Amino acid sequence: MITNSHTVPLSAPDVGDLEQEYVLAAMRSGWVAPVGPDLDLFEREMAERVGVPHAVGVSSGTAALHLALLGIGARRGDVVVVPTLTFAATANAVVYTGATPIFADCDVTTGNLDPFVLAGLLAELSAEGASVGGVMTVDLFGSCADYKQIVPLCEQYGVPLIEDATEALGALHRGRAAGSFGQAAALSFNGNKIMTTSGGGMLLTADADLAHRARHLASQARLPAEHYEHAEIGYNYRLSNLLAALGRAQLRRLDEMIERRRAVHEGYAKVFADIDGVRLLGGEDPMANCWLTSIIVDPERTGWQARELAAHLAERNVETRPVFKPMHLQPVFAGARTALTGAAEHLFGHGLILPSGSSLRDNQVRRVLDDVTEFLDGHR
Ligand SMILES: *Cc1c(COP(=O)(O)O)cnc(C)c1O
Repeated sequence: MITNSHTVPLSAPDVGDLEQEYVLAAMRSGWVAPVGPDLDLFEREMAERVGVPHAVGVSSGTAALHLALLGIGARRGDVVVVPTLTFAATANAVVYTGATPIFADCDVTTGNLDPFVLAGLLAELSAEGASVGGVMTVDLFGSCADYKQIVPLCEQYGVPLIEDATEALGALHRGRAAGSFGQAAALSFNGNKIMTTSGGGMLLTADADLAHRARHLASQARLPAEHYEHAEIGYNYRLSNLLAALGRAQLRRLDEMIERRRAVHEGYAKVFADIDGVRLLGGEDPMANCWLTSIIVDPERTGWQARELAAHLAERNVETRPVFKPMHLQPVFAGARTALTGAAEHLFGHGLILPSGSSLRDNQVRRVLDDVTEFLDGHR
């Protein structure tokens, strides 16, 4: 669809006066660099918010995932278990290290890594004597993976866990914050995420050595010598101080933005409540941050397909998106090893993500709900 000012966007940035104030103050302070007081404070404030000891601000969520994987020692010859239902960045980061992703299926109700599939796969890999570098979970659309099952499984096989929490900042799992599970976790502050620095990310960990190493690798692996000494290959992954200032303002508004997304989610829950054959993905999770709300349609019961609702909304300038195309169906990962149940393909075929942003105004939310109701009324 062609987007314009009348378009209701899927998940647009939510920035205002507070963000301008923080960024201007950072500029005026002269710290226009990938170091500075706002970066130090942003790291400390985020670590406190999530409840982990160490945070390293980086240029993207993908960079945080890459550094987390390097931190657990993933390398060529290793396999790393990755949920097939995710954004490509999760799997790409594995490939950056030289390791090989294996794609595991998801639970059909939540869209998150299926612990039963993981258990079977880890048993298989262990029997083969494979070198398993790690397991990655993704807290899909802002709902935590099933850590109650997954953490003990990883411990049983002695495999490190990396949490891709890029979509889930502010979500909880049994009272613990997204971003606090596993050996290390990644956050993203991309423009479409729950909070943004326009682009940016953060690595979170309880492991001081891992944090120290990530910081070193993120700054070109430059050793403390005047002449710039390098003993290994590094990366230019640090977050700029200006963007950290933007992040600090956004973090102050995080709870308010999550509340807004939850209210939008509630609106959809009401509209679809009495529609047989439509459910909200992960709809049962009151601890989700509701980053994106997705419906899953059973066309045998509804008599219509998700893509028909998408077309109806597109004609009315309402932006929607299919659920991620699973990684095992992506040409770039053709031939990769898999452990599948069909759940991810089902969600891809029948899911539809609806406008979910915290910057949506009341009249925009009402418009979308009216457009959806109009469609539903025409299909009863
Ligand atoms: C957004 C996202 C990333 C990558 O974050 P960037 O900051 O865009 O690099 C990784 N994994 C998932 C699941 C994401 O949604």
